[in-house]
Amino acid sequence: MRVLVADHPLIAHKLTYLRDRRTDTPTFRRLADELVTLLAYEATREVRVSPFDIQTPVAPTTGIHLATPKPLVVPILRAGLGMLDGMMRMLPTAEVGFLGMVRNEETLEAHTYANRLPDDLDRRQCYVLDPMLATGGTLIAAIRYLVERGADDITAITLLSAPEGIEKVQAGLADVEPPITLVTGAIDERLNDQGYIVPGLGDAGDRLYGVV
Ligand code: URA
Repeated sequence: MRVLVADHPLIAHKLTYLRDRRTDTPTFRRLADELVTLLAYEATREVRVSPFDIQTPVAPTTGIHLATPKPLVVPILRAGLGMLDGMMRMLPTAEVGFLGMVRNEETLEAHTYANRLPDDLDRRQCYVLDPMLATGGTLIAAIRYLVERGADDITAITLLSAPEGIEKVQAGLADVEPPITLVTGAIDERLNDQGYIVPGLGDAGDRLYGVV
């Protein structure tokens, strides 16, 4: 797996406010949305395109547009939904599929509880959205699920990642053939005993949806 940390002062600035416990839910949601748009710029650098002939008011020319099949954006429920609008702003013609994954808080293992994806993902480029790469179990399960259905290029976008999670995803997907990329806003220090990223930002889903 290729790992790209989006090293940019605007991203670091927005992440600082996102981490701050005093940041309220509406501001948290807006910051997450803005961060995804910035990360999407990096993550879509290799999105597939095809030539497209147009006429400007002055002359004919050839540009590009997104190739078909269109990319598939897959937010992991629930917290990944908070990243969907920001991503779709950059890729408005992409298709969206949903994957509901939950981790057992004792075993920290992930399992799928909902799936709204096209049956056939043959030759699809997929963008998986999940704000936190913590233990890595969810991301491994989600990426395997997409590869088994034919996806041939997968980019995961996270706001924050833990080093332990990245290592686990590297090992857990070592046998997967299609190229996998992780684009993340920052790699934090570590995971704590409860599987939270340190310093992190707490529970991303709770902070996005105002659960206290
Ligand atoms: N999920 C979260 O929402 N936060 C963490 O720190 C780890 C997993």
